[in-house]
Amino acid sequence: MASAGKEPNWEPTSIVNPDHLEQLVGSPPPSSAAVEDILRKARNLQGLTLEEAASLLNLEDEHLLTRVYAAAGEVKEKIYGRRIVLFAPLYISNRCTNNCLYCGFRRDNRGLKRRALTPEEIGREARALAEKGFKRVLLVAGEGPEGTDVDYLAEAIRAVYRHSPLRIVHINVAPQKVAGFRRLKEAGAGVYQCFQETYHPPTYKSMHPGGAKADYGWRLSCMHRAMQAGFGDVGIGPLLGLYDYRFEVLGTLSHAAALEGEFGAGPHTVSVPRLRPALGAALKEIPYPLRDDDLRKIVAVFRLALPYVGIVLSTRERPELRDELINIGVSQMSAGSSVSPGGYAREAEPAAQFEVDDHRALEVVLQAILEGGMLPSFCTACYRAGRTGAPFTRLARGGRIQDFCLPNALLSFKEYLLEKAPFHIREWGERVIQAGLGEIKEESLRRATEDKLRQLEQGQRDLYF
Ligand code: SAM
Ligand code: SF4
Repeated sequence: MASAGKEPNWEPTSIVNPDHLEQLVGSPPPSSAAVEDILRKARNLQGLTLEEAASLLNLEDEHLLTRVYAAAGEVKEKIYGRRIVLFAPLYISNRCTNNCLYCGFRRDNRGLKRRALTPEEIGREARALAEKGFKRVLLVAGEGPEGTDVDYLAEAIRAVYRHSPLRIVHINVAPQKVAGFRRLKEAGAGVYQCFQETYHPPTYKSMHPGGAKADYGWRLSCMHRAMQAGFGDVGIGPLLGLYDYRFEVLGTLSHAAALEGEFGAGPHTVSVPRLRPALGAALKEIPYPLRDDDLRKIVAVFRLALPYVGIVLSTRERPELRDELINIGVSQMSAGSSVSPGGYAREAEPAAQFEVDDHRALEVVLQAILEGGMLPSFCTACYRAGRTGAPFTRLARGGRIQDFCLPNALLSFKEYLLEKAPFHIREWGERVIQAGLGEIKEESLRRATEDKLRQLEQGQRDLYF
């Protein structure tokens, strides 16, 4: 790393070693006994080595895979309980000077109506989402003049807080220098999320022919800069379908290990976006198509390897698969998403980044979560209480994060029931809350949660631990 004052520079190979990953991709699948050994260790929340992850990724035996999925579900429940956190993306600009072959926002797509929202328009979008019941959003921007400009982005974050009751703003925007990240953090950004797209340098080069994004190393090191600037929480992930998914998963795990080594905390979230058709994209076929089974395996391996991360699933996947993946490791999902700027407050226009596959409204997704025996959560507590980065990881490792997750899920879901829930969900939701209270083992915490639930009924809001 470079000295203070100069922009720090991390060598790509200190983060990901492509030659090593290429070798690991060819690992033989584990024997049944080896699977049991790996799962025993993973169930004890000890993670996976790259070698273990590589071997599980090559597993095809259906019976053994069922064991892997069950273990992943158990690990998720051990750390985070049954709660599934809900959020929505808020697209603020589709202007872009990059030319990523797979994306509808790419510079050379002349058919797209371009637009960058003003702070007032961003406020309108935020209010439309709050109206549905959301408390957290993910701001998303193309890398045009606005989307790369720290002033615009910082103002966009502030606009959400100023004009809406939303409580936390995460961002998925262009990589910045350390000073830029610092300003975004000061403006109130929660998690900084950015996908490497592909960890495979030759594929990266061919997919990103133009603009600032063509620089593999600049993108790969962006999380190091963000953490250096004070982002305790960062979100990483590959865009699945550009290259061999096994390589991408191992790349993501290497990236996580590099962050942990440097900052004492790995990524806060890992996303599993799968490549979707996009109007105006240059790529007409998915280079490395994934089966649903591959995605199941990917989610499970991430959960076992990185027990403490939030695994984020978007509306790129179809409803039935999304409902299934919450049982094998996913802990956060978006719902009712629009992927074009201005898509919530007014009629959608042909300005979408890609085709989504789950068009269900928030309350329908929420109902599916309840039907699956999970607990919907709108919690935003950790970011606001400073439980981020290494302190968060310490709590999670000590098995303490559930002390916050379960009560906060109950409190934030209660607010939803009081304010937004359709009638048929209310009674059901109340029963789920009562059952959840019964799961809080420590009596003083259970009583304190009951107290806060009563205060919510009396009209107080935004109560959390
Ligand atoms: N422009 C910034 C960037 O590229 O990082 C941030 C926003 S970009 C709109 C968010 C993500 O959308 C990209 O990182 C990419 O992984 C994903 N994406 C782009 N085209 C996609 C497609 N056709 N299907 C699924 N995801 C796509
Ligand atoms: Fe622009 Fe991001 Fe789309 Fe690439 S993925 S064209 S950088 S918006």
